[in-house]
Amino acid sequence: MTSARPTAPTRVLAVSPHLDDAVLSYGARLHQLARSGAEVVVLTVFAGVPGPPYSATAHVYHDTWGVSGNPVPMRIDEDAKALRELGLTPRHADFLDAIYRTLPNGRWLVDDPSRSVSSQALEVEEPDLMASVAQHIREFSTRFRPAAVYTCAAIGRHVDHWRTRDATVKALLGTDIPLRFWEDLPYRGKTTRMPPLPAGTSFTGHLVEPVDPQDRDAKFRALLHYESQLALLGHESEPLPERLERYARERSETAYNEATWGLATTGGATR
Ligand SMILES: [Zn+2]
Repeated sequence: MTSARPTAPTRVLAVSPHLDDAVLSYGARLHQLARSGAEVVVLTVFAGVPGPPYSATAHVYHDTWGVSGNPVPMRIDEDAKALRELGLTPRHADFLDAIYRTLPNGRWLVDDPSRSVSSQALEVEEPDLMASVAQHIREFSTRFRPAAVYTCAAIGRHVDHWRTRDATVKALLGTDIPLRFWEDLPYRGKTTRMPPLPAGTSFTGHLVEPVDPQDRDAKFRALLHYESQLALLGHESEPLPERLERYARERSETAYNEATWGLATTGGATR
């Protein structure tokens, strides 16, 4: 720990799409904030527990995760262990992951296992879901009163990341709470594609944030708690810690780092 670090805010809120994204993308920095004295809550949006029947796509995911039956309680448990490792507090909202959602007409949002989740889900809008997620985030932040909020930039264009990002923008626009967007890992290693931000807003101020080795090491220990997700994340072909190190070294040879953008609103005001 060095004295050169900026003073940590008292309360920090990280809004994570799924049960692993905050740790994958920004876990080292969140650990750094927590050990600097901040109270850090990770609010996972799509942590709702579904019931059967499951879509064909969900069955494919369950097979990949190596689970039978309902995997979400196990994933919530993995997340609690990972966040505990980092000194962060979990909060789990009960919105359903895209692979479990249905449309107003009763059909699955995603029902073709041969196509990617997002290529199907992005063909429809989910205005009611967006409004509900934004309201949930707004109500939570009104109670928690964070000094800073972080969420994903939606690199990789996963529909749940996109919904989370835009709902967080919608929830916080008009408040004085600073909002920043982490680069989604490990997606950012393969693509820089992102959906456009809501009208009237844009990214600003890309910041590469170096962390100490102890923050990096804590993140990598925490990631291993997400046992059900490791196969899907390609951990066997190249262990996740090595891959994330490799991505970080593309930016800095000297320190592990994570990166964020700020939010600019029309008219040039930044926050
Ligand atoms: Zn995710």
